[in-house]
Amino acid sequence: MENQKIALITGANRGIGFETAKQLGEKGVTVVLTARQLNVAQEAADKLKAQGIDAFGVQLDVTKADERKAVAEYLSDKFSKLDILINNAGVAPKETLSVNKTIDTTADEFEYVFNTNLFSVVYLTKELLPLIKKSSAGRIVNLSSILGSLTLHSQENSPIASFRVLSYNASKAALNMFTTHLSAELEGTGIKVNSAHPGWVQTELGGDGAPMNITDGAKTSVELALLNADGPTGKFIHLGEELPW
Ligand code: NDP
Repeated sequence: MENQKIALITGANRGIGFETAKQLGEKGVTVVLTARQLNVAQEAADKLKAQGIDAFGVQLDVTKADERKAVAEYLSDKFSKLDILINNAGVAPKETLSVNKTIDTTADEFEYVFNTNLFSVVYLTKELLPLIKKSSAGRIVNLSSILGSLTLHSQENSPIASFRVLSYNASKAALNMFTTHLSAELEGTGIKVNSAHPGWVQTELGGDGAPMNITDGAKTSVELALLNADGPTGKFIHLGEELPW
């Protein structure tokens, strides 16, 4: 089954990650749902299996080096390749994203947010890259946010100008830098690397007041995961539209 696509989604037990796994599974992709605890990952996979989706649940706290390595070994043993990596797991600081905080950001907060949203993405991608290189259509999707856009923050009357949470926003801006650098480094390999802004979505992170439902919130990730060979790479995208960095 060399042509069967395999996708790994981090933070797939709930929110946009679970929905992305579901929508990719409904399109015939084999989905590996990862979560911090094995039983939680397996329960999420079981829900999709009950719908006839080819799903597996694997433990992965993205911040743990031994677990990142174990996931690479699992994929290598089971599938010998990886077609789609969705770097979805992400955290916001403990309090709400609507509390502006710049100069008072603590070292603990920076460490917590950057560790998950940036460093773990880089290290997991590095761990899985040899397997992605074995795919004929490797796709890497980094879940970013419009809150990481320097251009939009500096625009007059910008709707995001009042969401100034330095740790989260800077982590996503830095993640976008990773997208541009990795896509350039992989030029000519056929592997596409893009940043996704899912929208402001009704999840635990997005809050109940978010305008977008979770079905639509997964669409950008799914679209970027299944890009054709002539699709974009090294871009920041929301529902097919390019966003400014
Ligand atoms: P949720 O808070 O609903 O879900 C976050 C997921 O990430 C959970 O599965 C959580 O697992 C997982 N996670 C967090 N830390 C780790 C870790 N160390 N290891 C493994 N998994 C982890 O968030 P969303 O679904 O809303 O967000 C998904 C992505 O989309 C994030 O990167 C977010 O920044 C981004 N995004 C979301 C927006 C929104 O409006 N919702 C807007 C813009 C971007 P657990 O259950 O164990 O905590």
